[in-house]
Amino acid sequence: MIIFGQISEHLRLGPTNSRACPACRQEQPFSLLLEYDYAHLYYLFGFVTRRRFRVACDRCGNVWKASEKEIAEARPLARGAVPFLHRWGCLVFIVLVIAAVATAIALGL
Ligand SMILES: [Zn+2]
Repeated sequence: MIIFGQISEHLRLGPTNSRACPACRQEQPFSLLLEYDYAHLYYLFGFVTRRRFRVACDRCGNVWKASEKEIAEARPLARGAVPFLHRWGCLVFIVLVIAAVATAIALGL
């Protein structure tokens, strides 16, 4: 049985400028978030299908789309933030399958 699907995750990249939160209606600290979707095979081997940057109020947790300036601030922080198997897991799976087939051929199976 093949198990595959898509999962959404988010990572807190760090703090950004505080501002008036539309939900709290007060000046609040905000954080930069990276939200990403990844497709997976057996929940282990994945690849990222979508990324988007958001800002979240640290007090109420409401999330809004990041501005271009905030996206530019977040991009360097997002490098390497997504776990390896979420980004390159499908490539690892392909390499493992090729290695298994090569081994089987070498052993004459
Ligand atoms: Zn808030």
